[in-house]
Amino acid sequence: GTAGKAAEKAEVKGYFETTGFERWNRIYSESEDVNKVQRNIRLGHQKTVDNVLAWLQEQGNLAHRSFCDAGCGVGSLSLPLAQLGAGSIAASDLSEAMVAEAARRASEAGIPASRLTFSASDLESLSGRYDTVICLDVFIHYPQAAAEEMVRHLAAMAERHLIVSFAPYTPLLALLKGIGQLFPGPSKTTRAYTLREDGIVKAAAEAGFVPVRRNLNQAPFYFSRLIAFERREGSDPGRG
Ligand code: SAM
Repeated sequence: GTAGKAAEKAEVKGYFETTGFERWNRIYSESEDVNKVQRNIRLGHQKTVDNVLAWLQEQGNLAHRSFCDAGCGVGSLSLPLAQLGAGSIAASDLSEAMVAEAARRASEAGIPASRLTFSASDLESLSGRYDTVICLDVFIHYPQAAAEEMVRHLAAMAERHLIVSFAPYTPLLALLKGIGQLFPGPSKTTRAYTLREDGIVKAAAEAGFVPVRRNLNQAPFYFSRLIAFERREGSDPGRG
């Protein structure tokens, strides 16, 4: 119920303000201070980011599009996207520690605050309209129904493009996870959920979006389904 969901969210936030922040900030950096599992997660995640940047560049017109990076972490996508010339990016994350680090990295990289803004917000509280809404590797913390709700919410904010990634449910992964081999994951203390892709696609479809690109990015200990959706012609209730 609602109380359970709020408790779960509070737990995820607590984790990403503290030990989770430290762990993921190291993974999403060039620090040598990572173990083999973390190094592989870093490599796998970089593939996801590189895919998204390549797709966005193919779509083109970056300078005249607005982007929302929901659950931006330390800015692994937003920073290079800004450097590629994206016109405006609103990056946000549940964790204030993450947002502060992302802002620090952006200013260190000399990215003008006029083109890349940061705010602390969970993605349910986000509003506004963007050409493109992106949410990478966030749903791992939420069960199927909550993740689908997030997809519908993000889709309603997207005028044309929605890009999400998540750990897909597969029987083999479920088995490995069951015997505790996979997803040393976010931590031993937060749960990691794999999601059924058909449910995610259906949630997007309900909001008027169809999948146009799919990729599976893998490295040992990293397994992420990436899907780019496009709004179906005439399916936008947010447009007059
Ligand atoms: N999207 C970033 C990337 O790919 O580099 C970060 C991925 S990291 C594995 C997951 C991020 O999701 C963390 O920064 C965490 O704080 C954030 N997060 C978790 N639940 C969230 C929520 N409900 N709303 C917004 N951010 C959330």
